[in-house]
This record gives sequence, C-alpha cells and structure tokens, in this order.
Amino acid sequence: MEVKRLLNGSYIARSNSYGVLSEGAAIVVDCGKYDLALSNFLESNSNKARLILLTHAHFDHIMGARELREKTGVPILIGKTEAASMCDPDYNLSGRLRREIEKFEPDYTVEDEQTITVGDLKIKAYEMPGHTKGSMVYLIGDNLFSGDVLFRNSIGRTDLMSGNDEEMRASLDRIMWIFGDDIKVFPGHDEETTIGAERRNNPYLR
Ligand SMILES: [Zn+2]
Repeated sequence: MEVKRLLNGSYIARSNSYGVLSEGAAIVVDCGKYDLALSNFLESNSNKARLILLTHAHFDHIMGARELREKTGVPILIGKTEAASMCDPDYNLSGRLRREIEKFEPDYTVEDEQTITVGDLKIKAYEMPGHTKGSMVYLIGDNLFSGDVLFRNSIGRTDLMSGNDEEMRASLDRIMWIFGDDIKVFPGHDEETTIGAERRNNPYLR
C-alpha cells in the first residue's frame, strides 16, 4: 500500500488530500476542493474498489467531495455524528465564505471503532471529538489519517463551533494510548509525522 499527497494543504482554507493505493483499492482522504489530481487518481484506478473518505465536515475538507463523486461515481463516507451536521453552514464554516457548500449527503457513515473493508484494505474508524463533535481518524494499515485532530507539533483548534477543549484532551490521550510509535500520521494540514515523533516533540501532548 502507498500513500501520496494529492493536494497540499499547508495554508488556511486548503487541506491535504491523500490518495491511498493498494492492489485492490484506491481511496481519496478529504476533498477541500475539486481538482483533476483527485479525479485522475480515482479514474486511473477504476478497476479497483474506490472510496472518498472524509475526516470531518469543515468546508476545507469536504467542499469538493460532491463534485468529485459526480465526476467519478465514487461514493462518500464520513462519520455518523458529522453526517448529521455537515450541511449546516455554521457547522461546516462555509457560512463565512461568499458561497455556501451545495448540500449533499454521504453514501455511507461509520461509527467509533467500526471497521469497513474497501477492496483489499481495511479501514478502522475512531470518533475523536474536540476539533468538531464528530471528527474521525482512520487507520489504514500502519497509516493514521488524523484530520484536524493531531498535527505535526500541534493539534487542531477547539474554539470553532462544536469544538471542545476537554473532549480534545480526551481524544488526544486516546490516540496516544491506542496507537504505537511506528504508526505514520497523515494530518489534514501540513506535513506527515509519526505517533512516536509526536509523543516526543508535540508540546500539546505534554
Ligand atoms: Zn477542521
């Protein structure tokens, strides 16, 4: 299995989009804007099981998902809690933009500790509230897609609608408890890291 960053989200209003590729599956993680890099990735793997996987409902992670699904026919999955609020412009923060997100429904939802199979890949989902009420992190092989919960040397903000400091603390404790040092972390913004590096270096985890 390989993970590549298809879109680079190192600044505000842009998030990372990852492509996860194996012999039997092609998965896009997060889709803050529709981009040919994403549809080409899915189209060039149309012989495999495919999925658009969303970590949470902030606009910079979901805004291109509806169009990506339209162009490729690939279904969308998001956490169950998040799905209930994802089209609320206050919740997804798109109310702050000049154009709101066109409403759309996910094809599938997952709950905490649920495992789903996509082709030859297993995705284990964990609900980790704090940044948003229904933020999910997803483990695929040794790779953790941490959305805006855990960043390299930082953590997601908790001051936005549905954010919560105490829940964030509990989620981070849980992440550090569940995952070993060798797990690679692919966050929603900025560069990849590992659980071990964050355990040693992240000032928010001390
Ligand atoms: Zn966010």
